[in-house]
Amino acid sequence: MPQLLIEKIEALSREIEEADRILIGAGAGLSAAAGLSYFDEDAFKKYYPDMYARGFHFPYELVGRGDDEWTIGRKWAYWATHINYVRNIFQPAPLYKKLLSLVEGKDWFVVTSNADRQFMRNGFDMERVFEYQGHYDTLSCSKRCTHHTWNNYEALQHVLAHIDHETFECPAEHLPRCPYCGELAEMGFRPEDWNVGRDRYVNFVNESEDMRLCIIELGVGFNTPAVIRWPFERICYAIPRSTLFRVNRGYLDYANHKGYPKIPAELGNRAVSIDCDAAEVIQTLVDMRK
Ligand SMILES: [Zn+2]
Repeated sequence: MPQLLIEKIEALSREIEEADRILIGAGAGLSAAAGLSYFDEDAFKKYYPDMYARGFHFPYELVGRGDDEWTIGRKWAYWATHINYVRNIFQPAPLYKKLLSLVEGKDWFVVTSNADRQFMRNGFDMERVFEYQGHYDTLSCSKRCTHHTWNNYEALQHVLAHIDHETFECPAEHLPRCPYCGELAEMGFRPEDWNVGRDRYVNFVNESEDMRLCIIELGVGFNTPAVIRWPFERICYAIPRSTLFRVNRGYLDYANHKGYPKIPAELGNRAVSIDCDAAEVIQTLVDMRK
């Protein structure tokens, strides 16, 4: 590892130890570093065989599909397959546990765009985690007869068991339904207590105004920069004693964003670009503590 990179990670390690508070932002790059990548063609071939056979290559290719092109039966076949992989086949990732070990006992908060529930599954106190884009565990009513959202595990297992592998569709009689009105359910994403998490996040940031705040951004790219990336730059700008550590590999996957994890010049030396895989940085931080 280049000396400059080691020095940057040492600075991060010091800041984790000495800061009053730690704010972590986690994007898809963190789960990818943990082995759960929506660009993983091998896993896709193995766990989404019906889709692979139809010419698709990786899970992210499918996100957002289906509104126009797919029947409702195929949409559910896809969601059930995808969520079963993310939530049941893929196990809690040790990388997340290592991250937890770095901040345990400190005053920390996590905001994440990941819906995969790895923070929950690895023992993070979920009162300190805000899943900004919701998560994969809930269903809601497609007709909005209630604001209630409910756990989707059984309904999705039922869909999985009834997928017609000739058509890759779930027959209408086996689709998830709203338990209140009987209409079709849909993926909930935002659980009914989403606002509670948002308020905790906002309060954490507001209360950190005069504190020494260590801001760590892990694997946040340009898919949804309004969720973590841009707010974190503004938070760092607004809180004088904060430092932003932007950890990401160069954006090689995106033709328009080649290069290192850039930081705004306005933040001066209060922002540090760490051009490195999140898994490597977290492991180095763990090793530095020994
Ligand atoms: Zn309903």
